Amino acid sequence: VFDGARTRDWTRRFADSVYATEAELTALDQQAGDGDFGTNLAAGVRAAGLLLDRREAPAGPAETLGIMADAFLDEIGGTSGPLFGLLFQALSRAAGSGPGLTTAALAEGSARGLAAIRRVGDASPGDKTLVDALAPAAAALRAAQGTPTAAALAAAADGAWRGVRDTASLTARRGRASYLGERATGIPDPGAVGVALFFDSAAGTVH
Ligand code: ADP
Ligand code: MG
Ligand code: MG
Repeated sequence: VFDGARTRDWTRRFADSVYATEAELTALDQQAGDGDFGTNLAAGVRAAGLLLDRREAPAGPAETLGIMADAFLDEIGGTSGPLFGLLFQALSRAAGSGPGLTTAALAEGSARGLAAIRRVGDASPGDKTLVDALAPAAAALRAAQGTPTAAALAAAADGAWRGVRDTASLTARRGRASYLGERATGIPDPGAVGVALFFDSAAGTVH
């Protein structure tokens, strides 16, 4: 279960992994887009971190993820900013008003976030977008009900990384990479890597 402190730890780990990967994410988006994905994602976690650090009372899980959502929805450009914002918003809502985010709520929030992203971005699995990492992560969380949180999150992270690897062989049908046609084939989708870093960070908090 993710209480407020663990959820904050998750967002910190995610931010650190984004900073550590920023140049790589930008390089991927240079090959398959316009080269701003690393900058966009780093700006999002930085803006959210500033808002979270400014709070005086410790925030619960719903509030922490809600602050992440607001930062990405309101402040971050690019296609990915609002799409990540929708995932964080759905997770925040799934956390509800309770003190802890359970595996069931993580599964529910991921599934609802996926649905919202698909509605807005009109992408299906196989279109070489972050949907290809989020869909297997959400499916893994749903399948892992009743197993320990660490196992459920490890399965979600594995699913997301498998999705990332699959995007490499796909030809993009959504986003800027689709303008490149076959030229982006062989390059993994940067947005999918961002989603995998997010679930990997969650798994990292329960080891
Ligand atoms: P932009 O293309 O506007 O510069 P970013 O570089 O911030 O946006 O984000 C690019 C990522 O956004 C892609 O790697 C992909 O995962 C994701 N993406 C782009 N278009 C869509 C879409 N229609 N549906 C879902 N995800 C998308
Ligand atoms: Mg871009
Ligand atoms: Mg851009």
